[in-house]
This record gives sequence, structure tokens and C-alpha cells, in this order.
Amino acid sequence: MSTTFNVTLPSGATWTPAFVATLDEKKCIGCGRCFKVCGRGVLELVGLNEDGERIRVDLDDENDEEEYEKKIMTIAHQELCIGCMACSRICPKKCYSHAAVLV
Ligand code: SF4
Ligand code: SF4
Repeated sequence: MSTTFNVTLPSGATWTPAFVATLDEKKCIGCGRCFKVCGRGVLELVGLNEDGERIRVDLDDENDEEEYEKKIMTIAHQELCIGCMACSRICPKKCYSHAAVLV
């Protein structure tokens, strides 16, 4: 029988991590706030050109904006998520959904 994955905290309380499940790219405005608070390397900013093709965004290059129409955040490494929900809390567009996992 499977159960929800929980963590017992030093206080004795139980915490159920809510792992990132989906990111609604249609709602995303590419503000990058979630990227800044995720310390796990889960997220990746990409550019979309006029044909809807994805282009790697170089965060250190401030002059590459002509190469794409808009930027969106994507879930690049879901397996690295620790379920902290910091991305959701800071997202102004409510792009994220999260889910506990069964073990
Ligand atoms: S839940 Fe936490 S670890 Fe997972 S993507 Fe969001 S900020 Fe990163
Ligand atoms: S905080 Fe929300 S709107 Fe901003 S880049 Fe992240 S997912 Fe997109």
C-alpha cells in the first residue's frame, strides 16, 4: 500500500513536501521571480521566437532580447525539486501547481 511522502521535522511536526508539478506557460510573463528563489536548479528561462521555437536565454547577455518575442519559465529538472513551494508563493500569475508524491 502506498502512502504520502512526509518528512518529520526536528520539532516532531510532519511536513508533506509539495513538489512542482506543472507550470502554465500561457500565464507566465517571464518575470524571473521564481527562478531567483528556487535554489535547486529546477527552473530554466527560455525565449520564444515568432515561430514559437524555444531559444536558450543567456541571463548574462542583456542584448539578446531581439532574438525572441517573449520569455517564459520552464521546468527543466523536476527531479531536483524539494517541494518547498517558494516558486508558487512568489509567482504573481499563479502559474504553478504542486503535488505530494506517493511512496
Ligand atoms: S517547489 Fe521549491 S525546489 Fe521546487 S521548483 Fe519550486 S522553489 Fe524550486
Ligand atoms: S514568477 Fe510566475 S510569472 Fe514570473 S517567471 Fe516565474 S512562473 Fe512566470
